[in-house]
Amino acid sequence: MTSGPSKTPAVSCRGVTKNYGTGNSEVMALRGVDLDVYPGELTLLVGPSGCGKTTLLSVLAGILNPTAGEMIVLGSRPAEMPDHRKVKFRRQNIGFVFQQFNLLPSLSAAENVSVPLLLAGWSHRKAMRVAVPLLERMEMGGRLLKALPATMSGGQQQRVAIARALCNHPRLLVCDEPTSALDGQTGRAIMELLRGEALEGDRAVIIVTHDNRTFGFADRIAQMEDGRVVEVHRQQVTAAAATGFHDTFQFTAAQSAAVSPNISV
Ligand code: ADP
Ligand code: MG
Repeated sequence: MTSGPSKTPAVSCRGVTKNYGTGNSEVMALRGVDLDVYPGELTLLVGPSGCGKTTLLSVLAGILNPTAGEMIVLGSRPAEMPDHRKVKFRRQNIGFVFQQFNLLPSLSAAENVSVPLLLAGWSHRKAMRVAVPLLERMEMGGRLLKALPATMSGGQQQRVAIARALCNHPRLLVCDEPTSALDGQTGRAIMELLRGEALEGDRAVIIVTHDNRTFGFADRIAQMEDGRVVEVHRQQVTAAAATGFHDTFQFTAAQSAAVSPNISV
């Protein structure tokens, strides 16, 4: 196991709430989330549709402000930052990967990856010096560098989206259902890639998923229900577990190393 109690969490939430709307139309999407996420680990966020997974990811990534609660991300409190600082903090520290890839259709693979760097004021040439090796590492080198999204497979598009999220070397990578639009074999390759990014970069990787085939890749699985994290299961990832791309997963007493409700170990 790569982390122990002495390791500082990359993200720490206590009592985080998020309400959408007001009055009669108010929705309490997060009802007091307690969660720790560690660097060098892959943490899965699982739970039924509507339980608040995307909301929690957006709050952790600084895209949405929490309504209440304590949240420390990479030693800072982004929710308390003025907007311009929060945007800068996010650009410098956090990568986001979406289910539907969200690539710009008129840009090539390499250009899509370089967008965040160009937005940060980099020259095209300098941005390409980062984008090209990143794509090559993801088996998207050669002619694929110039390919447009419409000509790529789903797996290739997701590799470009991951490269784009990694171009600023984020210490936190958050992914919302990154394999759900992909077939099993491609999904597995993407999970292997994401796990490698967590381990090699000592990066915290959080993945929202419905896909129980991904469970074998996780160091921690945080189970959400109705706006809360109700259980965190910590497991040793073995090659067999990861390659098995599990069809089923159950929290058993033996597996679930007596994690107290709401708080991870
Ligand atoms: P999940 O990703 O687990 O499916 P979400 O975080 O998307 O869940 O949604 C949690 C709850 O918040 C749901 O009841 C959803 O309808 C509601 N919700 C999500 N986004 C909004 C929004 N922008 N405005 C109002 N309600 C929302
Ligand atoms: Mg969602």
